Amino acid sequence: MDDARHPECDCLEWLETLSEYLDGDVGEDLLHRIDAHIAECPRCAWAVATLRETIEACRHAPRPSLEPSELRRVVERAREELHRQGVL
Ligand SMILES: [Zn+2]
Repeated sequence: MDDARHPECDCLEWLETLSEYLDGDVGEDLLHRIDAHIAECPRCAWAVATLRETIEACRHAPRPSLEPSELRRVVERAREELHRQGVL
């Protein structure tokens, strides 16, 4: 890992918005900012990839759609995972 990272990487804040982001529920401005952050932050890129996979899996499940509350839980779980792995 290179440590030339921005001192205030607000990954946790981004993670708060990821459920909306993945749900296409954010404004274009925020969308671009998240995209830009993900492009340069491997941790968030990893989190998004993980969440996307999980959400995809849920969408292919018998239930028609992922409830916002479930989505939130998925994000929560991913965040715990990131903590466990010591990346956040
Ligand atoms: Zn980040």
